[in-house]
Amino acid sequence: MHKLSIKDLPLRDKRLFVRVDFNVPLSEEGRVTDDTRIRETLPTLEYAIRNRAKLILASHLGRPKGKPNARMSLKPVAERLRMLLDNVLESSCNVGFSPDCVGIEAEELSTRLESGQTLLLENLRFHPEEEANDESFARALAKLADYYVNDAFGAAHRAHASTAGITKFVGKSAAGFLMQKELDYLGQALQDPKRPFIAILGGAKVSDKIGVIRNLMGKVDALLIGGAMAYTFQKAQGREVGKSLVENDKLALANELLHEANERGVAFLLPVDDVVAMKIENDIPTKTIDGDQPIPDGYMGLDIGPKTIKLYADQIADAGTIVWNGPMGVFETPSFATGTKKIAQAIARNEDATSIVGGGDSVAAVHQAGVADKISHISTGGGASLEFLEGKKLPGVEALNNK
Ligand code: AMP
Repeated sequence: MHKLSIKDLPLRDKRLFVRVDFNVPLSEEGRVTDDTRIRETLPTLEYAIRNRAKLILASHLGRPKGKPNARMSLKPVAERLRMLLDNVLESSCNVGFSPDCVGIEAEELSTRLESGQTLLLENLRFHPEEEANDESFARALAKLADYYVNDAFGAAHRAHASTAGITKFVGKSAAGFLMQKELDYLGQALQDPKRPFIAILGGAKVSDKIGVIRNLMGKVDALLIGGAMAYTFQKAQGREVGKSLVENDKLALANELLHEANERGVAFLLPVDDVVAMKIENDIPTKTIDGDQPIPDGYMGLDIGPKTIKLYADQIADAGTIVWNGPMGVFETPSFATGTKKIAQAIARNEDATSIVGGGDSVAAVHQAGVADKISHISTGGGASLEFLEGKKLPGVEALNNK
């Protein structure tokens, strides 16, 4: 990685501002119901504390739209963080909380911090200036610290005050361990993948994945398409797709992409059979239709069929690098979840490959299938990982100092 790492910063007795992603779900009573995102930053936090930095942590939570909102306070996160850090460090940890992320109180609390102590700031998005990447707000955040670390990969595709603006006003800016891991895995896949390199793309819309398809076309050996997206391609090729979800304004583009794949010699695989039904409802009658047959009127394609599962699983078994983003069907409804689950299992079986799974639905599917520990890298940023795969520069990464 060509960006500075937290290991390149002088930490002892320094105030270190760490942008984390503590955007965790809270219950009605304000309890953290899933602390995965907090636990994922622990290696970075533990390293900084053991190296005697004074830690200032900042995050967004939910969408408070630029106004304070008690239901989106990070206060409950401070308590959970304290428990988790106590565990990791095997000693009682000091985690304070600042009721605002900028201003006199935050400044006083940050200057009073002792080495090895932690201060969590209140939700950055209580201020509209955060998302506007406002310069004076970025300066106000920077006042709290000497150095900056970004460990919030999930927010790195946004140029906000805490992910981009702040870096102009602190000593040096570096990547945390979680950020580094994301960039290493995704970067390696794009720059020097073990071959064959395949990408499996699914989900509802072609339009969301055009950039990824275009960029990956020059890098992968095969693209495997599933989900509703497949029907836009099939309709473009002249198949009757019944009432399957189709983007009619993307048919010409779909043909262009198919043509481009052909020119470049990239295998562009579409489903060879589909599970269809009249409604999206569990346990309703379904049919399996071959891909060279029309989907009957009144029916829609809701999952890939068994032949497609086998075809895709064979490709996955032979791959050296696998990137997966987007479900193969309406996986939220158990009757149409088989394709997505089988793809997750097939990826898990190829333990020799580097496998990268991104996007909320595919990540959920990997957990539901119970194979998360068999995946090389589960990305913590759906939007950020897609933009990375599109070949875009992420503002939160660009803002960090080069080595
Ligand atoms: P995306 O956000 O584009 O990754 O799309 C994810 C959504 O696509 C999920 O909610 C799936 O239920 C939905 N989806 C996947 N396959 C289909 C399909 N064949 N028909 C309708 N929706 C689908």
